[in-house]
Amino acid sequence: MAIKGAGRVKTPVLRIDNLVKSFDGSVVLNDISLTIGEGEVVVIIGPSGCGKSTLLRCVNGLEPVDSGEIYLRDARIDGQKKNLHLVRQKIGMVFQSYDLFPHMDVMDNLLLGPMRALGRTKQDATAEAEAALKRVGLSDKAHALPRQLSGGQKQRVAIVRATLMHPDILLLDEITAALDPEMVREVLSVVLDLAKDGMTMAIVTHEMRFAEAVADRILFMDGGSIVEEGKPKAFFASPETARARKFLNTFTYEELREGIPT
Ligand code: ADP
Ligand code: MG
Repeated sequence: MAIKGAGRVKTPVLRIDNLVKSFDGSVVLNDISLTIGEGEVVVIIGPSGCGKSTLLRCVNGLEPVDSGEIYLRDARIDGQKKNLHLVRQKIGMVFQSYDLFPHMDVMDNLLLGPMRALGRTKQDATAEAEAALKRVGLSDKAHALPRQLSGGQKQRVAIVRATLMHPDILLLDEITAALDPEMVREVLSVVLDLAKDGMTMAIVTHEMRFAEAVADRILFMDGGSIVEEGKPKAFFASPETARARKFLNTFTYEELREGIPT
């Protein structure tokens, strides 16, 4: 199947059909359908609690779903299935909190996946990891422990670690939310470089200028649904729904006169 996105036909990497997910009887994802093409960067924004993290967790097979289907290329992702292990190897995920192994230095953190899961030799994996660290400006930290790094440095290592698995898609969930502004910048520039290199990504962020710069497509979620979808420039310049305008704090003249809709 070919889909259209950003003006050219792309092969879908991820396809979500009619996903429904609830916790304790309350619906958190309400009929989400979404396709992400090869090399496409989709940024998901929306208020806290609208279901962004749950969506990424369902994609990664970390949450069982109530109904609907998720495919990574041709493989169905289903929390029950035994192919989950393999599917997860093809999905990279980075969270807000740096999840490096604290007792292992940076290089050992980076070698673990490629050597254990991909069967790469130490020499081979080390060469690739060194080159990747160099690209994010952290060559001198290869033998530092995570606690000796700043938050921004840890997140750059976490991103490098995810990319060394050569995932089909990278899921980033508010990876700069816990960082000082200066560190936000150094982490986001690494993500921008990945986008330029053609990495397929689904990114949840509250950094709106970054979202506009990196995204091929913006999805605005509210209350478990995709409320609005658009090209970044158009979306940020003039969101179509009142809900998105309120979230972005941009109002029409009529809305200001009549009070902001809820
Ligand atoms: P977001 O990432 O957009 O802030 P989440 O996906 O974390 O939102 O959460 C969506 C909703 O699901 C929220 O109401 C949250 O409280 C609820 N939720 C998330 N995880 C769980 C869980 N493990 N158990 C029960 N409720 C949850
Ligand atoms: Mg979240």
